Amino acid sequence: MFLHLQSTIDSAQRAEVEAAARGLGVDLVPQDSGAHLMELVSAGVPGPERGQVVAAFTALPGVVEVLDRPGEQPLWSATRHESTMVKVGDAVFGGGSAAVIAGPCAVEDGAELLEIARAVQSRGATLLRGGAFKPRSSPYSFQGLGARGLQHLKDVREATGLGIVTEVLDPREISSVLEVADMVQVGARNMANSSLLKELGTVDRPVLLKRGFGATVDEFLGAAEYLLCGGNSRVVLCERGIRSFDQVTRNLLDVGAIAHLREATHLPVIADPSHAAGRSDLVRAIGRAGMAAGADGLMVEVHLDPSAALSDGQQAIGPDEFEALVTDAGVLCELDGRTLLTGSFQVPQSSSPKTPTHLRGTA
Ligand code: PEP
Ligand code: MN
Repeated sequence: MFLHLQSTIDSAQRAEVEAAARGLGVDLVPQDSGAHLMELVSAGVPGPERGQVVAAFTALPGVVEVLDRPGEQPLWSATRHESTMVKVGDAVFGGGSAAVIAGPCAVEDGAELLEIARAVQSRGATLLRGGAFKPRSSPYSFQGLGARGLQHLKDVREATGLGIVTEVLDPREISSVLEVADMVQVGARNMANSSLLKELGTVDRPVLLKRGFGATVDEFLGAAEYLLCGGNSRVVLCERGIRSFDQVTRNLLDVGAIAHLREATHLPVIADPSHAAGRSDLVRAIGRAGMAAGADGLMVEVHLDPSAALSDGQQAIGPDEFEALVTDAGVLCELDGRTLLTGSFQVPQSSSPKTPTHLRGTA
């Protein structure tokens, strides 16, 4: 049998778990898959009954569950429990609440970041995104400001109160990213990086896990399992589009996967229409599609001067377009009884999504 512990377990709770193990005459042997999975090895033969083990451990704080075999029923499975709600600052994802993360692709400059942060905050974003470490396809492209970028994020967090979402590329950068990030992003290119996932499974910080552009839904959930089995239960999935044979959009937002994930897993799922579209004129429509499929929120790239952006400028939208998308998302949430948390921004109650141009006058 195995004991699954919470990542947030403290030393007093751990001591209680150890005392319960001693009471049953079993040793706790940590497993490779993370410090929060322990095998119960019995000194005596026969060992304690399953019922005794469950009774001894499951009510203890810091214990998630007793398992016969690790992975027998994946931790992401919706059969395990009701929707997980992940709270990050003023944002809540899942369990009927949705929120919007917005900001530039990369942190480029402190003053500019502050301006973007204020623009998106006043229009309904509750978290600010921005990469200090950028995973670029070419080694000659802008790689991000690194530590300087993290400092800018920290300053803007202090100035605005917005929680920060920023990407970590390398296990060696986790501790510096954790000094700033309220939520750590694992990008599409790192979704299958099991070393990184194992490390992030042990940290006490929510993780935004983006789907790899060539990953199946099962592989995506397998990556989430790495985080969960390490003991980190605050995982938000992000569908950001997969590769298709067509070049019209940068990627293809898999709305079917969003709808499926809402059924298959208790974890919240958000949509990133920016990396799916790859072009600013389609971000609003694709963002609406993600919300209509049941996404628990959006992550959107916003820039004040997209033509001057150092990365992904072609897909960045401006503040007005962003406000329109937040309004759409609020209306779509309301349609199925969910709430979009928008901070001080009020989604206009009377608004309904504007009639698309091609339908005007045909009613
Ligand atoms: C990003 O969010 O800026 C990013 C690099 O996204 P992805 O990993 O989905 O390509
Ligand atoms: Mn980007």
